[in-house]
Amino acid sequence: MKKVNFTETVLRDANQSLIATRLPYDKFEPILETMDKAGYYSCEVWGGATFDVCLRYLQEDPWERLRKIRAKMPNTKLQMLLRGQNVLGYKHYPDDVVRKFVEHSIKNGIDIIRIFDALNDVRNLQVAVEETVKRGAHASGTICYTTSPVHTLDKYVKMVKELKEMGCASICIKDMAGIMSPKESYDLVSAIKDAVDLPVVVHTHCTTGLAFMTDLKAVEAGADVIDTAISPFSGGTSQPATETLAYALRQYGYQVDLDDKALIKIADFFKSVRADFIADGTLDPISMSTDTQCLNYQIPGGMLSNLISQLKMMNAMDKLDEALAETPKVRADMGYPPLVTPTSQMIGSQAVQNVLAGKRYKVVGKEIKAYCRGEYGRTPAPIDPEIQKQILGDTPVLEGRYADTLEPAFEKAKKELGDKAHNDEDVLSYIAFPQVAMAFFEDRATGFKKKKEEKPPMKNATQTANMETAPMPAWQGHVYYSNVPASVSNGCNVRPIQPFAATYQPPHLKMWNREDCSGNFTVTVDGKSYAVTVERAADAAPAAAPVTAAPVAAPVAAAPAPAAVAAPVPAPAAAAAPAAVAAGETPVNSPMPGNVFKVECKAGQAVKAGDVLVVLEAMKMEIEVTAPVDGTVKAISATVGTAVNTDDLLVVLG
Ligand code: MN
Repeated sequence: MKKVNFTETVLRDANQSLIATRLPYDKFEPILETMDKAGYYSCEVWGGATFDVCLRYLQEDPWERLRKIRAKMPNTKLQMLLRGQNVLGYKHYPDDVVRKFVEHSIKNGIDIIRIFDALNDVRNLQVAVEETVKRGAHASGTICYTTSPVHTLDKYVKMVKELKEMGCASICIKDMAGIMSPKESYDLVSAIKDAVDLPVVVHTHCTTGLAFMTDLKAVEAGADVIDTAISPFSGGTSQPATETLAYALRQYGYQVDLDDKALIKIADFFKSVRADFIADGTLDPISMSTDTQCLNYQIPGGMLSNLISQLKMMNAMDKLDEALAETPKVRADMGYPPLVTPTSQMIGSQAVQNVLAGKRYKVVGKEIKAYCRGEYGRTPAPIDPEIQKQILGDTPVLEGRYADTLEPAFEKAKKELGDKAHNDEDVLSYIAFPQVAMAFFEDRATGFKKKKEEKPPMKNATQTANMETAPMPAWQGHVYYSNVPASVSNGCNVRPIQPFAATYQPPHLKMWNREDCSGNFTVTVDGKSYAVTVERAADAAPAAAPVTAAPVAAPVAAAPAPAAVAAPVPAPAAAAAPAAVAAGETPVNSPMPGNVFKVECKAGQAVKAGDVLVVLEAMKMEIEVTAPVDGTVKAISATVGTAVNTDDLLVVLG
């Protein structure tokens, strides 16, 4: 009797796909011992977005989470997802960092590391695979599944042979978008099984409704392991249900070593977890439904929701169809990369920028530039040479492996951090997400006191929950959170001036009961505080703006409200900007909504056309804003960490 093994994804991929990875450790801890006895081949519990979200939103040390899971699940193989040379971030790291990360993942409890590269460039898997094997763990070499004119069975088989050669103990087909059809999975698994003698793992998503059929046909073709999620966290953008596949496969005579009684307990447990996330609005019913649009656009579920939330943030939802149609065109221009983090974000945000700017590749993110330079690896097909030239100008294209050009970074970061890092794991967190990790270390030093005090009870987004925070001197009681447009009845607009993370869909804020609501205050949403500035709406006379050439939006932005409830800000920044620029000076405005990530110039500095002045962060991408002309920096309005809208003044050149 052929045995089919199950990898349970509820704690990682299902958690990530359905509730944006917001499941805190404390919430799932009570079920770990039951999960440990359920007979899973492995449980995917770490990596992917869990690491980032733990630090950014959950006030959890991801390493500690892993150790705690390990302690509660001594009998089950723990699995993580690793983006090869990208580790868990969105850029390439030097080899010493990749090796340290793998070493410490295994040391803290990981047994199986599923390693992939967004471009299927095996050079980007090599170091991670080598280190995993060296440390005695199981390296699962992964194919990112996609379809395109250049993705043929032969190509996949060639890659699989290279993965075996490297020392991978199994081959995983990672169908991140749920686009692999039953026929394609049968053909691909058969081809891999013919080519190498390794266990084959199939990972797919229910997004398009194909997954159950795809898994069944994969098993018929000889797949050894399938990824499933316990029923309450299955379906939609998540994996197919564990219990359902176990039931169907047993009828066909396959051996399934899952304990049904344990599965019932686990399902009951996660039903109540799901209810909480439905109640607080985190679990959007749309992500539980079937969407065949992905078959046309080949857009992974997560990318689609990211695209929608970005367009909403920019008040450009009317451009959704255009952005969806543009996405496959950008993908073709870029040599048909599979759409998976980080390429999915890069292609998606480039498509949005092409549509919003009204001209293709007028605004190009730093990542897309790096991609065109070859920093992400070899693209499946060549990048459109004309577009590549337009984006790169005279910058040369890289020939070898990008990581070979990077200096070792671990020891340097360790030194930099000093006693802020308690251990090597902290150093790795910092290297992966510098700003987020630093904020986490600072919060940790206070015992998360601030966070805990401010954390509001979970609210239902549909019931206009009161999201006010305690100390709000002049404004208390009037900030509400509901699904209404971000304009308000009394002529004020509310916009956040502190960054909302790109993965977080900002709520619309509504304010009323005051004649004049301009000023700064803190709004706490989801346990996280945001400084918010309220401005008079556009009808307030822009002429009255007491704006000088020096910092325009800066004083408002810098205020860690509510301590400073500033004088009313008379005009929206967009209207104020031109006022700050004298005749003969050149304003440099923000090309798109985003957060100011870095300011790369100083007042008085001479710059040349094309020099980077400011780096914005939008849609997880870095966007460089460059000088349009030669000149001198007269004034800088951009402040690191603040939000800007399209056409907000960043820098004045003279
Ligand atoms: Mn997945």
